[in-house]
Amino acid sequence: MSILPLYLAGSWQPGHGVPLASVNPADNQPLATVATADAADVDAAVTAGQAAMHDPAWRDLLPHQRAAYLHRIAALIERDAERLAQLQRQDNGKPILETRALVGSAAGTFRYFAAICETLEGDITPSRGSYLSLSTWEPLGVVAAITPWNSPIASEAQKVAPALAAGNAVIVKPSEFTPLLALELAKLADEAGLPKGLLSVLPGTGAVTGAALVAHPGVAKVTFTGGTATGRAIGRVAADKIMPVSLELGGKSPNIVFADADIDQAINGVLFGLFSSQGQSCIAGSRIFVEERIYAAFTAKLAERAAALRIGDPASERTQIGPAITPQHRNKVEGYVALAQQEGGRLLCGGSRPADPALQSGNYIAPTLIEGLGNRSRTAQEEIFGPVGVLLPFRNEDALIAEANDTVYGLASGIWTGDFRRAWRIGRALNAGTVWINTYKQFSIATPFGGNAESGIGREKARDGLKAYMRQKSLYVDLSGRPIPWAD
Ligand code: NDP
Repeated sequence: MSILPLYLAGSWQPGHGVPLASVNPADNQPLATVATADAADVDAAVTAGQAAMHDPAWRDLLPHQRAAYLHRIAALIERDAERLAQLQRQDNGKPILETRALVGSAAGTFRYFAAICETLEGDITPSRGSYLSLSTWEPLGVVAAITPWNSPIASEAQKVAPALAAGNAVIVKPSEFTPLLALELAKLADEAGLPKGLLSVLPGTGAVTGAALVAHPGVAKVTFTGGTATGRAIGRVAADKIMPVSLELGGKSPNIVFADADIDQAINGVLFGLFSSQGQSCIAGSRIFVEERIYAAFTAKLAERAAALRIGDPASERTQIGPAITPQHRNKVEGYVALAQQEGGRLLCGGSRPADPALQSGNYIAPTLIEGLGNRSRTAQEEIFGPVGVLLPFRNEDALIAEANDTVYGLASGIWTGDFRRAWRIGRALNAGTVWINTYKQFSIATPFGGNAESGIGREKARDGLKAYMRQKSLYVDLSGRPIPWAD
């Protein structure tokens, strides 16, 4: 199998790191081998990025001219949407219906930030003297975008589009498990005519390529999505460099069902919130709180529906649950199922691999629901990142809010109720970056996204998502024409 080159400063290069294999999680067969970047490649990409962003050909572009590049990239993603969706479901095992949505969202993200870049305004600030005071926005420099394996192309777009729209250069380090879509994005940016050097895509491991990028003195910001432990390590380096960093990290989100909810709607929402993307989702609603008086009936129905979800080949449009990303990750998830049982948990469904002979070569795990554990159990506190949920009964609102907030995370949450005032009250009380009311896992690029506590720092998307890649500059312009009297 030939080695796919990496994209360094506008040219395709063999890289100096150890090549790595991308493997299809549905059958564990190699899909491709990709070149990786070592520290010298990282250095070359940073140097080229700095030159490209200061080149008048990019630096002096008017916002609508910069936006035109982003629109072209969006159009090319749309042109190749089906091919990209098929490649992504091979690279990371998500069902095809999900990967189509992710590709569509990536195109939408480029279009959104093209629009925002055209409408960004500075301020004329109230002055306290005979001068004009202004606040303007300028790019930061070379941005490192480090992404996980669970939503390729959507994650990369969420970082690359605003970073470029703001006038920066950007270097992407995709997950070693899913490097292919980021390389495809580089091809499309190249075809769109993006000036060379503004975008590099450097596959490699976190330990080599990621660490070299974060530590590089020429990297002005790291925008990271991934696990909390990695985010903490990156944050430490950022502190030493006095470098801004945005961290989108893990979660253990509560999804709360009240007795007065529309039960069919709640069941669909809980299933989708937990099991879509086979639970490999930072926002998975994996702690399911159910009001005590409907607990038995609700959980019985939920388990019956979970057991009936269609596990299978991600290529099929009928498939709801695909394989885990790697055999090692499946082992980790299964380890949590064993732990739950040691902690005293009872399986309501799942807990095993599907018996279908056609699925034996993939990393499949049956949707699993566990009850009988407290919220303080490790199973209920630690991010499993697989199709495993814990059911927790609750009696009243105060106890519920205390338990729902009793977690190191604060990423997302869901509330199912027919009582709008209660939904508002609880939504305001939950410690989470996002609250869904009678829905779950719905997104708009125009709405900020990010976590509280150990789920991260900063917000992505929305109008301010552009400013996250910029800094403010204040200017004072004398209007008096007189010397400053102090010096007389
Ligand atoms: P990791 O934290 O393991 O990896 C994320 C990225 O960081 C990968 O590209 C990884 O490289 C890289 N990396 C690892 N170590 C370093 C380092 N020392 N310096 C720089 N980069 C490094 O997360 P996963 O890929 O396993 O993704 C799953 C995690 O991501 C979950 O915890 C999930 O909750 C979180 N996530 C959060 C989201 C959010 O928006 N809040 C969205 C999606 C996922 P390598 O390729 O070697 O692993």
